[in-house]
Amino acid sequence: MAQQYDYIILGAGAAGLSLAVRLANDPWFASKRILLIDREPKTRNDRTWCVWERGAGYFEELVHHRWQQLHVRHYEGQLPLQLKGYEYKLIRGIDFYKHAFATLAQAPHIQVLYDAVQQVEAATGLVHCANGSYQATHIFSSVLLQEPAMQPADLYLLQHFRGWWVETDTDCFDPAAADLMNFRTSQQHGCAFVYVLPVSKRRALIEYTLFTEDTLTDEQYDEGLRHFMTHEMQLSQYRITEVENGIIPMTNLRFPASDGRIVFIGTAGGQTKASTGYTFQYIQKHSQALLQWLKQPGTPLPQPAARFRFYDTVLLRVLHERRLPGADVFFRLFQNNPADRVFRFLDNESNFWEELLLMNSTPKSIFVPAALASLRG
Ligand SMILES: Cc1cc2nc3c(=O)[nH]c(=O)nc-3n(C[C@H](O)[C@H](O)[C@H](O)COP(=O)(O)OP(=O)(O)OC[C@H]3O[C@@H](n4cnc5c(N)ncnc54)[C@H](O)[C@@H]3O)c2cc1C
Repeated sequence: MAQQYDYIILGAGAAGLSLAVRLANDPWFASKRILLIDREPKTRNDRTWCVWERGAGYFEELVHHRWQQLHVRHYEGQLPLQLKGYEYKLIRGIDFYKHAFATLAQAPHIQVLYDAVQQVEAATGLVHCANGSYQATHIFSSVLLQEPAMQPADLYLLQHFRGWWVETDTDCFDPAAADLMNFRTSQQHGCAFVYVLPVSKRRALIEYTLFTEDTLTDEQYDEGLRHFMTHEMQLSQYRITEVENGIIPMTNLRFPASDGRIVFIGTAGGQTKASTGYTFQYIQKHSQALLQWLKQPGTPLPQPAARFRFYDTVLLRVLHERRLPGADVFFRLFQNNPADRVFRFLDNESNFWEELLLMNSTPKSIFVPAALASLRG
């Protein structure tokens, strides 16, 4: 006999924990029996999340550092972004995990289990793990047991990166300002840029990031970072204190929102922005919407507007088919538009008028054929 729950959350990563913490904090759910399953405890600072945001976010107390000055740099020039109230915020993975599990420890109706999910029966809500089976009315899954099949028109790029947390013995950084995208790095492997995220005068996260089809070797990432530090930052004396690696899918492949009793969340639920890889804020909005959905049965599940899917496909096509160097795509976007408009657009929160202005700022000879090809696809 499977143990019974109201809700089971699969995966205690960004999406599973964002949802679980909200369920723990909302008294409406105090009578629900909730199970959170992950294959392993979260003990490592395995990722750093950065988001742009206006005002306080749900996890505001976890913000490790914030910047009110951002730059986009390119060999052609540098753009100080006018943020108009937006801040760029950094949350450390380990702080998020500790906070989330401390919150769940105060919620007796939420149980945490470490086990490997092997199969989920959508029709019955049965979850089969290596060491037992569990059943619930609703399953929220960030565990992708099988990726949806690619269709011929689907585009798939990888955002892959290596970040070095570095420390210096002298003051080398300006903790008030960060580089959102610094394209003054070799583009030999495809679209590449570096995040420069100083959290003090002597400590920074420098992340070498690529939007390409294939990952690099460890040595190539290290070489990319070393080259940038030496030539762009003129920095040769530093200690690497932590290394962060990541691969994020950038695809217009349709991740199903739900299947029977399963609602997919996080990257598995299509919450990764296809054209940028940003996910954390989409997860927050989705988690918030799911609580409303649970409270008001019968309301449709939250879905992104179709036009943003189309814009993502066009942008992804330009990057994927290298119709214009990725460095130029993003530099032009920020050069020809105020940053707050770009942020709203990338957050799927712009209005149609703003989108027309954005479209008008892109090179027509590149984007119109990409849009037509995306319509046909
Ligand atoms: C290094 C890194 C940095 C990133 N930085 C940013 C950023 O700055 N901004 C941004 O917006 N996005 C960023 N992302 C993208 C995105 O926000 C993260 O990938 C985010 O963690 C996705 O959340 P998730 O819950 O979907 O997946 P995860 O956080 O990966 O959680 C999935 C969980 O499922 C568990 N699991 C998997 N398979 C099983 C199984 N069979 N059984 C049981 N448990 C299982 C895993 O252990 C994991 O805990 C980053 C991603 C990475 C990898």
